[in-house]
Amino acid sequence: MTADPNALGRYARQVVFEGVGREGQRRLGESRVVLVGCGALGTVLANMLARAGVGFLRIVDRDYVELTNLQRQVLFDEQDARDGVPKATAAIEKLKGINSDIQYEAVVADFGPENAESLIADCDLSLDGTDNLETRYVLNDACVKLGKPWVYAAAVAGYGTFMPIIPGETACLRCVFPDEPEVGSIDTCDTTGVLGPMPGIIANFAAIEALKLLMGVHDRLNRGLTWVDCWYNSTQRTPVETPAPDCLSCQQRIFEYLERPVWRRAAALCGRDAVQVRPSNTVELDLPALARRLLVVGEVRQGPQMVRLTAPPHELTIFRDGRAIIKGTAEVSVARSLYARYVGT
Ligand SMILES: [Zn+2]
Repeated sequence: MTADPNALGRYARQVVFEGVGREGQRRLGESRVVLVGCGALGTVLANMLARAGVGFLRIVDRDYVELTNLQRQVLFDEQDARDGVPKATAAIEKLKGINSDIQYEAVVADFGPENAESLIADCDLSLDGTDNLETRYVLNDACVKLGKPWVYAAAVAGYGTFMPIIPGETACLRCVFPDEPEVGSIDTCDTTGVLGPMPGIIANFAAIEALKLLMGVHDRLNRGLTWVDCWYNSTQRTPVETPAPDCLSCQQRIFEYLERPVWRRAAALCGRDAVQVRPSNTVELDLPALARRLLVVGEVRQGPQMVRLTAPPHELTIFRDGRAIIKGTAEVSVARSLYARYVGT
């Protein structure tokens, strides 16, 4: 080790840290990472990994920057929101000014069963910056199938959770959550809100696990599922360290989420500026509860069979069977995103 830490260049402060060293930095520089979702979690993950000096960073995101993102999505600014820039592109433009040594790739697309495997196959690690469980199950199935590690992360309101996953070694997401929660039953940032620092806290935890995985320091991994609640001030670790013996994904190797015809669940309605979205499983929504949650988003009207949310420029009509007609867009990806935000998964 050199006597002058500045001689180590931009990575001096992490190279002198005993857990990294020159060998760890060399490994980071050769690593290839894919980030799925570039919102509150994703911008922090991308920011930290770019500053740490990974070799290649691919960012996959289907959305555009909006004003309401700026409270917590740290790579975006007002100009990005005014211009409606795709998040993957806006993030990479910022990152190029932070670390120009990295090779970047922006993918403006829905991450789903049709492209999941090809987007992760040439990377060493996948990172979860998504905002819905369905995409996380797709990511889990693709990573387990290809034997690629990934880091699960989620945050809403004042709490969050993360878990590093190594297929064949640790539990996978489906070991821990075997079944998708019912559509409309879980909190989302759009209906429950989120404190700005919370996704940042969880993403920074996840970024540390990512660095350990990329450097091959598996004995330092924070194994199991960690919950952090910064509003009620508690931290919990669920010691799910080994796979569930009957896990459909990592033990039986049945990759349901790579086989589901997710795209067919949403279809633009011919001749109308509207898209119909169907839930992934059979549901019966609790419409009064859904209506109450949506009150913070826009104007809500409730009928016996449906709830109508008006949040210009969109209008969502959500039926008891989980189906929704989303007016104000003919884009399937926009409609699926709105559905995930307001109805859930
Ligand atoms: Zn599993």
